Amino acid sequence: MGLKIVLSIVFFMLVVILLVFYWILPIGELIEFRVSGGSSNFSLNNSFNTSMQFYENMRYKSSEISYKINRCALAREDEMRRAFSFLKNHTILNFYEVEENEEISVTCENSAKGEEGLFIAGEGGVTNVVITENFNVILNGMVILIRESKCPDPLVGTHELLHTLGFDHSENPNNIMYPTINCKQTIGDDLIKNIEWLYSFPTLSDLSLENASASMKGGYLDINLTVKNHGLKDSENSTLIIYANNKSIKEFGIEPISIGSGKMITLSKIFVLRRNIQKLELFIKYNSEELNKNNNKIMLEIKK
Ligand SMILES: [Zn+2]
Repeated sequence: MGLKIVLSIVFFMLVVILLVFYWILPIGELIEFRVSGGSSNFSLNNSFNTSMQFYENMRYKSSEISYKINRCALAREDEMRRAFSFLKNHTILNFYEVEENEEISVTCENSAKGEEGLFIAGEGGVTNVVITENFNVILNGMVILIRESKCPDPLVGTHELLHTLGFDHSENPNNIMYPTINCKQTIGDDLIKNIEWLYSFPTLSDLSLENASASMKGGYLDINLTVKNHGLKDSENSTLIIYANNKSIKEFGIEPISIGSGKMITLSKIFVLRRNIQKLELFIKYNSEELNKNNNKIMLEIKK
């Protein structure tokens, strides 16, 4: 074999090795991407007086709410049962009794004195709430019924029940949410409409892509992002898909996310064959319906 041929082969090998190194080693300048579009969380546009509730947009996961009545004397148990039906008849809510894991717990006490020595009829409130971008989701509420109302309508029970739904006191003496009871009080129309609006949103998850950033060095891509669930239901499995110049380059499974929680995801050193990536798209594929699908996508482009 002539020297020329040997040299040609060596040269050829060298070129191949250099090319391989060029593609595989993370050499080159650091390219950073910035968010250029996508992902918008929707705004609920609550047109109601937001001071009606302890916090804005408080509701249970669904309009079907479970309850359990623990250890109550007959008259008070009856007051509470009538309160649940009363509210069911006046609103779009439905209440059902369970043996355990109830959302609303009702207990009774023989008597209690309020802070200023006034005799109080009961106490109701929200005991467990998850804060999300859309709603303050009530997981649990509690009623302690001390006296029944002795009115034709179960006003004490209903008043306390409305506290467990997140409603605060009213300054109107004729409103059921006025701090002290008189038998002429009624549920305000605005409260009924507010409940109707709050529970008009179906019990769905709402996955949202947030805080995305990406950078590339050589043929390697690093991506950071957060997936949150702003919905009314824990999410099922979902898939994060990464597109580079409109082509899918990576899929990543995401486990269920509970209401109000999020997952930080770091994907490092994703090898991409093509180095001329101009834009990236991050997309959460979720096979079920969501409150909002518009926040499942984020677009990124090279920082200039
Ligand atoms: Zn009250």
